[in-house]
This record gives sequence, C-alpha cells and structure tokens, in this order.
Amino acid sequence: MENLSHPSYAFFQGGIVPIEEAKIDIRTCALQYGTAVFEGLRSYWNESEQSNYIFRLEDHYKRLFESAKTMMLKINYSIKDLCDYTIDLLKKENYTEDAYIRPFAYNSDLNIGPRLNKDSQDLFIYSIPLGEYLDLSRALKVCVSSWARIPDNCIPPRAKISGSYVNAALQKTEAIMNGYDEAITLSYGTSFVCEGSAMNLFMVKNEILHTPPVSNDILEGITRNAVIELAKEELDLPVVERQISRTELYSADELFFCGTGAQIAPIGNVDGRIIGNNEIGEITKKIQDIYFLAVKNKIKKYSMWCTKVI
Ligand code: PMP
Repeated sequence: MENLSHPSYAFFQGGIVPIEEAKIDIRTCALQYGTAVFEGLRSYWNESEQSNYIFRLEDHYKRLFESAKTMMLKINYSIKDLCDYTIDLLKKENYTEDAYIRPFAYNSDLNIGPRLNKDSQDLFIYSIPLGEYLDLSRALKVCVSSWARIPDNCIPPRAKISGSYVNAALQKTEAIMNGYDEAITLSYGTSFVCEGSAMNLFMVKNEILHTPPVSNDILEGITRNAVIELAKEELDLPVVERQISRTELYSADELFFCGTGAQIAPIGNVDGRIIGNNEIGEITKKIQDIYFLAVKNKIKKYSMWCTKVI
C-alpha cells in the first residue's frame, strides 16, 4: 500500500524544507533539456536493530560528482556535506521501512537554449519509501530491446544524466507493452549486450560470473561492483568482465539483473528461451542472500558499505 505520509521533506536550496515548498521554475534548463545528473540510493530498515542503513552513501555521491563533471555542472557542496544532508533528511522522515533516496543536481538556468557551461545550478534531495522495484518472488521474463543503448559519444551512459533516461523509458515501456517484465539492451549497431533499462546484467556459465565491461556503454553500477566483490570474496567465484553476445544469453546457466532499485533480480526467460528452470538459479540465490545481509549491515566485513541513520 502506498505510504501517503512520505515523503514529508526535501533538501532544497541549501536547507531541509517541507516537500510542498520544493518547487522549480517551469523555464529551468534541466526540465527543458534534461541537463541534470542524479543518483539513486537505498536505505534499508534493519528490524532487529530498529535502525536504517544507507547503502554505499559516499560511493553514490562520488559518482554524482563524476556525472556532474561530464555535464559541466558545478556542485556547490562537498561529498561530506551531501552525505550529512542525506542523513539529516532521513532522520526527519523517520522511516521504519526500506526507502529510496534521489539526489538531483541540475542546470537551473532560465534562458532558452541547451547549454552546459552556464553559471546557474542547484541540487535537491528527496526520498520515498520503496520496497521491490522488480518482483523478486519469481524469475523475470525479459526481451532484448529493439531500442539500442545510447553510445558513449551520443549521450555518455557512464554518467547518470536525467535526459538519457528517455532511452530507458523507451526500452522499459516497449517491454511492458509486449508482455515482458524488463528489457535488455544491445550496444548501438552491435550484437553485444549492455544492461537492463536501469540495472546491470550478470550471466552465470559453467560456475563463472560474466558481465559486460565498463567500456560497453553501461552505467558503472555500484551494486555491480558489490556483486563482483561478494562473488569473489564470499563464493570464491571467478568473475569475468567481457563482451557478451545476445545469443550467449539463451544458453546461460543463470542470468540476473542488479542495481539499487532492482537489487538482485533473477531472470528466467529471455526472448522466449527458458533460462535454467525458469526460477532463481543456485548461484543467483546465494548472491541475493549475501547481498540482502550486507545491505542491512548484517555482515561485519561489509559494514563500511552501510551508514547508520542516527
Ligand atoms: N544501469 C543503469 C542505466 C541504471 O540506471 C542503474 C541504476 N542506477 C544501474 C545500471 C545500476 O546502478 P547502481 O547499482 O549503482 O544502482
């Protein structure tokens, strides 16, 4: 059920304000032309401790600064400031459930014309309660999208740019309209796999984890990075970053998506070809279990990934 009491607040123009007061001008460049960069983080509710933990807080803000550099957006706060504001905001919201946090740095210029290097920019942060973004109770049915992933020299996928999510919206909407749960994209003009509409992709084949390399028009996912570390450290699984062809997916032993929203989401069907038993694979299940422990600060070794909201 929708939680109507949240969000109550936003960090906006330098301070925390009631969410109704966080409004922007209709002429804003970022609204008109997509000239903004953003992040998506999760906070997890640890029921036994009655605490919230934000997953990889600083890493998300590091990526926000990298995205901002590409888009020539100046962020007038430090990473430390943004981490502190995020914690303050979550304290005010006082969640007792999992939540999603959206920092957004944007070109606030009001003149007509798509330009990057203007002097006006701003940043806001808000959060919403968020359970599952993808249904994790079953293996997903996915298709290879007829929409290619945007290449690096068109709109850089490495940067999390708001305007580039038109590409994701086309993929996701087409997939849903055709009866699938999600889409997998190929890089432009090739048969090499990139990622999902807003999540990275892993393939298990012969007890080896494969994932497309960061040079293959993907967002360098923070969950992807966590999965690589957990697979190597906790499951002793080799991880190979290499180009994956579309039809390799059909004969994979297991496939799964990963991302802040998606978490660890098993795939059971690609383009009508059944993957494994059309249910969560053995290795995917192990990774999912470890991931859900790690994000709630239930594995001491990974507590550096978790920031307590106090
Ligand atoms: N690819 C895209 C296009 C995304 O939007 C996301 C979500 N941020 C991801 C991958 C996964 O990244 P992360 O694990 O950092 O959330």
